Amino acid sequence: MAENQHFLNDETATEAFGRALACATQVAPPHTKTLGGRVYLRGDLGAGKTTLTRGVLRGYGHIGAVKSPTYTLVEPYEDPDFNIYHFDLYRLADPEEVEFLGVFDYFDEANLCLIEWAERGKGYLPAADLEITLSMQGRGRLVLWEPRSALGERIAARLSEYTDVLTIGNNTQ
Ligand code: ADP
Ligand code: MG
Repeated sequence: MAENQHFLNDETATEAFGRALACATQVAPPHTKTLGGRVYLRGDLGAGKTTLTRGVLRGYGHIGAVKSPTYTLVEPYEDPDFNIYHFDLYRLADPEEVEFLGVFDYFDEANLCLIEWAERGKGYLPAADLEITLSMQGRGRLVLWEPRSALGERIAARLSEYTDVLTIGNNTQ
């Protein structure tokens, strides 16, 4: 399998991949100071985007609930070491609405933004550093990650290292 892909057997594997993404976006893991970055999460309804996000937040030490902010569109997770913003733009009726959300400060490059359904805000959202695509494959999911900036390259390379480790005992393909 290519170095920028990974097969995820089940929900636990998707969360583990999210934890790997947490490490890959930290300056010096396990410390939770973040490099920031904008990550677009692509995939159909039920593909595992929110599950992956839950893994990222667990990796940053968040123990509470993580629900998709389908109605609120964004959920903030703020800490002295990191600002993480989880977007779900599924219910955006028009890309222009992004302008009225009052969320532009959230896209500061110091912050980590995880964005589900970024395509609904097309033309109004800043470009991604990293794009992650989840697709159904049998009973599991295939995850693919592609850098879109220099920061994205750095995160993607680290992610490949961490998922190499994850593969042990967990990847059947
Ligand atoms: P999305 O946010 O993309 O709509 P969710 O994260 O809400 O999707 O996940 C949808 C369902 O997929 C959940 O029931 C979750 O348990 C399941 N799931 C997540 N990852 C996997 C996986 N690798 N294999 C099988 N099921 C998974
Ligand atoms: Mg979701």
